[in-house]
Amino acid sequence: MKLFRGFADNESFFFRLSDDGTAEKAILDPEYPGYLNVSHFEDLASAPKLLPCVEPSKIVCVGRNYAAHAEELGNELPSKPLLFLKAPSSVISNGDSISLPRQSELVEHEGELGIVIGRKASKLADDVSPDDYIFGYTCLNDVTARDLQRADIQFTRSKSFDTFCPVGPYIETELDTKDVTVEVFVNGQKKQSGRTSQMVFDIPYLLRYISNQMTLLPGDLIATGTPSGVSKLNPGDICEVTIEGIGTLKNPVEQTVSKRRI
Ligand code: MG
Repeated sequence: MKLFRGFADNESFFFRLSDDGTAEKAILDPEYPGYLNVSHFEDLASAPKLLPCVEPSKIVCVGRNYAAHAEELGNELPSKPLLFLKAPSSVISNGDSISLPRQSELVEHEGELGIVIGRKASKLADDVSPDDYIFGYTCLNDVTARDLQRADIQFTRSKSFDTFCPVGPYIETELDTKDVTVEVFVNGQKKQSGRTSQMVFDIPYLLRYISNQMTLLPGDLIATGTPSGVSKLNPGDICEVTIEGIGTLKNPVEQTVSKRRI
């Protein structure tokens, strides 16, 4: 099922849209407090205000998880997943604008499959099924100021500008992720294309590995790495991340208007 997040009556919640366009509120199962586990749906009088489909406490990203992308940036493949964090404040919705910061001359798209955690995951053992800890999947754009990434020793600044994490348009809770296409189009022209079967480290391995480095909480996001074909974003561009079985995350690009430069 496809779930959106919205706000109405002073609360945020997940909802789905029926075929007739009416919204139904997802009620989380009270038997599993703290889990994202939908028990049933209730009618809503009107469609709520749309929010980004996730509100993560952290965004854990995997670098160089497609061999062709590592190669295009001149990097060796890591022997273990290369992890970094992206600021949760960088999240925006489908349709919101990616703002190019004045500090960078080279901002690039990175289309990725995003995993949404559904249940607290800590130190998962090899015999545990990671599927039990996944709420669903979404399209994610790990927007990156490539020049700042190269200049800094680590990735925090280059990955965490406001608007640098478009997600959506919704969470798909039922998806076989073993071999789906991940594509990025800029102004309708295909730039990136890969298949999740090409990941260096697959999703079960990533979830176990990350949960043994830090506790994952419901709503947290994992960005699983990007295929080759990253390219520069310019003001006026339309960037689309399309994942088979999920849909298309579409965001315009604009230049940030800022009075101060630091
Ligand atoms: Mg990335």
